[in-house]
Amino acid sequence: MDIEDWSEYDLDTRAVRAGQQRSAEGEHAEAIFPTSSYVFANAAQAAARFAGTEPGNIYSRFTNPTVRTFQDRLAALEGGEACVATASGMAAIYATCAGLLKSGDHIVSSRSIFGTTTILFSNYLGRFGVETSFVPLADLEAWERAIRPETRLLFVETPSNPLTELVDIRALAELARRKGCLLVVDNCFCTPALQQPLALGADIVIHSATKYLDGQGRCVGGAVVGDRERVGKEVFGFLRTCGPTMSPFNAWVFLKGLETLGLRMRAHCEQAGQLAAWLEGQPGVERVHYPGLASHPQHELAGRQQSGFGGLLSFEVKGGREAAWRVVDATRIMSITANLGDTKTTITHPATTTHGRLTDEQRAEAGISQGLLRVAVGLESVRDLQNDLARGLGA
Ligand SMILES: *Cc1c(COP(=O)(O)O)cnc(C)c1O
Repeated sequence: MDIEDWSEYDLDTRAVRAGQQRSAEGEHAEAIFPTSSYVFANAAQAAARFAGTEPGNIYSRFTNPTVRTFQDRLAALEGGEACVATASGMAAIYATCAGLLKSGDHIVSSRSIFGTTTILFSNYLGRFGVETSFVPLADLEAWERAIRPETRLLFVETPSNPLTELVDIRALAELARRKGCLLVVDNCFCTPALQQPLALGADIVIHSATKYLDGQGRCVGGAVVGDRERVGKEVFGFLRTCGPTMSPFNAWVFLKGLETLGLRMRAHCEQAGQLAAWLEGQPGVERVHYPGLASHPQHELAGRQQSGFGGLLSFEVKGGREAAWRVVDATRIMSITANLGDTKTTITHPATTTHGRLTDEQRAEAGISQGLLRVAVGLESVRDLQNDLARGLGA
């Protein structure tokens, strides 16, 4: 397949087809290339490859055909010029910051982001002289107030985890442009199947491929998507030097995950929508957070910005921590784990797990109550999932 421009093809076609380059064997499925290095035809070719005057593989810390297929496919899905694959989602965020920032630069980040990303920004980047200010996700005025002359990067996840709050990506991208900063969106929860931040004006998209891109809980990986200069040169340059690249085996697993991405995300949305509506009618439930519900304060924005409402929901049960733990412990099929983006449904009590290290005050500010439960809805039957929760809610 020598299609260069995938933009005229629909997402489901790109997810199955983009990026594949068949070898001389004519294999139908994508091949895995488990090789650390590559051989050259002669000394002159070796010299040309190293000098960069001839394109081609040298070493798998730089490039690998299976990894490249994954990168090209994800770039086609997000509508980006370039994509670099990384060893994990955290490596993608770190490589983006390390590749594009220097000491003295400043980041403004949503405070409702993945906990480890907060630690990366505060503890590690801080040590190298890159400071981060945290702002409430949906408050555009707070974003603007936090921007300084040395601010280089705005960082956001939308919808947020676990409360499914949104920010208007187009408005935030406009602010970033006006202030001369880059907008980086961690698109882990929506994936390109539901939301394409680059088309809304964002500069860079981050992925934890570990979640929905794999979708079946098998491998850890990540990716950065954006333009040729910043991602294709700067972030790639950092990565080939510092080394947290993706292995060809993992790239192959993610490629196979991408082929069913649209199908799975539609099913996750459908299932989560049904479960959210059912939860809203349960007497033991105080409140349900899901962008697809008319009761969600940003339901209209979600409908405009996303092509589906996602697989993640949270709800508050009456009776605080004790009642919430009762619901968790009464489940039989849901997995009690903080992971998400799997065919298997997971249930978490954020206040004592993902947000357990926060002070009571920080938790209250973040809206994480003791009665809050998060469910990442998988692909089991909705009726069975309802029964699984009903047991604890009724007890
Ligand atoms: C899991 C996750 C990450 C980190 O990804 P890893 O693959 O675990 O390193 C980053 N952002 C979000 C939103 C995540 O859920």
